[in-house]
Amino acid sequence: MEIITLIKMLFTSKPSDFFEVELMPMKHFPFKGYKYMMWCGRIVYHKENEEKVKNEINTEIGRRSIRHETLHLRQAENQAGDSWVRYYWRYFVEWIKGNPIIHPSKSAYYTIPFEVEAYALEETEGAELYYDTNLLKSKYTLENKKQTYRDHREDWKDYVKTL
Ligand SMILES: [Zn+2]
Repeated sequence: MEIITLIKMLFTSKPSDFFEVELMPMKHFPFKGYKYMMWCGRIVYHKENEEKVKNEINTEIGRRSIRHETLHLRQAENQAGDSWVRYYWRYFVEWIKGNPIIHPSKSAYYTIPFEVEAYALEETEGAELYYDTNLLKSKYTLENKKQTYRDHREDWKDYVKTL
């Protein structure tokens, strides 16, 4: 059962096992309608999309996605004691802190410090190689999450790159 494999990965692998995110083909994941699913440092895709996925990964957009996800890998390693369980728990807590039940609910995701940092640095060559552990707290943890998102929602991904 693939679901068992995915759950096991949470406990039997650690972020530092990988230097960069790796592709992982599966038969039943990700859920219908999704091209990729990020999980424990892997980019999970449907086996039947193999060719399409491997082509896309070599484009500019593909490389940016790899960098974005590799930054999450560095965060898990350096900000959550190299534990996937702790990382996903903190990620969840930060999402809750962003008040997902108050409009606009998307802001809860976009203002998670882990996401702010990954979006801010995803186009910076080498950002994933020279990860600076201090920036998450000092730069990418926003004070007034809801209001900041409302003020910049039209160009959020560009805005976070100016922080
Ligand atoms: Zn992300």
